[in-house]
Amino acid sequence: AITVGVLALQGAFIEHIHLLQKAAPLVKSKEGFEFIEVRTLEQLLRCDGLIIPGGESTTLSLIAQRNNLLEPLRDFVKVERKPTWGTCAGLIMLAEAANSTKKGGQELIGGLDVRVHRNHFGRQIESFETGLDLPFLAELQAEGESPPPPFPGIFIRAPIVDKLLPHVHGEQAAEAKKDDTVVAPAKEPRNESAAKKMSDTVEVMGVLPGRNPGDAEAGDIIAVRQGNVFGTSFHPELTDDLRIHQWWLQKVVDSKS
Ligand code: GLN
Repeated sequence: AITVGVLALQGAFIEHIHLLQKAAPLVKSKEGFEFIEVRTLEQLLRCDGLIIPGGESTTLSLIAQRNNLLEPLRDFVKVERKPTWGTCAGLIMLAEAANSTKKGGQELIGGLDVRVHRNHFGRQIESFETGLDLPFLAELQAEGESPPPPFPGIFIRAPIVDKLLPHVHGEQAAEAKKDDTVVAPAKEPRNESAAKKMSDTVEVMGVLPGRNPGDAEAGDIIAVRQGNVFGTSFHPELTDDLRIHQWWLQKVVDSKS
C-alpha cells in the first residue's frame, strides 16, 4: 500500500484524513492507500507522502522540535525529497523564509524557495472565503471538458507567498538578514534520484482574484509548487471539494512508481 501521513501534532489534521479517504477511490493507482496520523519518527519513516495541516505555525514548530521531529521532517522534505503538501501553517513550515514572526523566530522545515508573509490579511479580514481559479485542476478534467469550476478557497489568518527567492541558499540567507525574516537550514538531497526530484523553479499554482474591483490583493500568490513540495495558503480540508486532495494523491502515486 501507499502510505500517506498527516502530521498530527496540532491543527486540522483529522479533516485532511477524511478528505484523503474520500478522494482515494478517484485516484488511479495499482496499490491501495493507507492514511496515518504522524506523531512519531517511526510513523514518519513509513510515509510515502506527507501533509502538514493548518493550525498555528509557531506552535507546530515548537511541538515538532520537542518531539524531535524537526530534523527528520527536514530530511523527509529536502533529503529524501518525498511529496509533501502544506496548508496554511503547513505552507509557512515549508517555506525557506518567513517574516512577521516574533523576535527569536520560529524553526522552519523549508523546501520551497519562497518567503511567506504570515497573517497577511491582518485583523479586519482575518478570515474569508473566495472562489479560486486553479488552472492545475484542469489535469483532472477529461479532454475537451469545460474548464474546472472555481475552488472554494477558505482563508483563515492566512499567509501569502510575498517573494520568490533565489535558489542558492547563501543568497537566501543574505536576503533574509535585511528584515525580521527567519530562514530554514540548507540540506543536500540523499542521492542522484532524490536530486532529480529537485527543481530550481517555483511554480505559481494559484493567485487571488481580488474580491473587489481594483483590489490591491488581486494577484497575491496563494499556491506554489517546487519539485516534491506543494503549498496552499487556504484550507481545502475544510470544504467538501475533493479535487486538490485527488490531484495531490495522484502526484504521490506517480512519484512512487
Ligand atoms: N496564522 C497562522 C500562522 O501564522 C496560520 C493559520 C492557519 O493555519 N489557519 O501560523
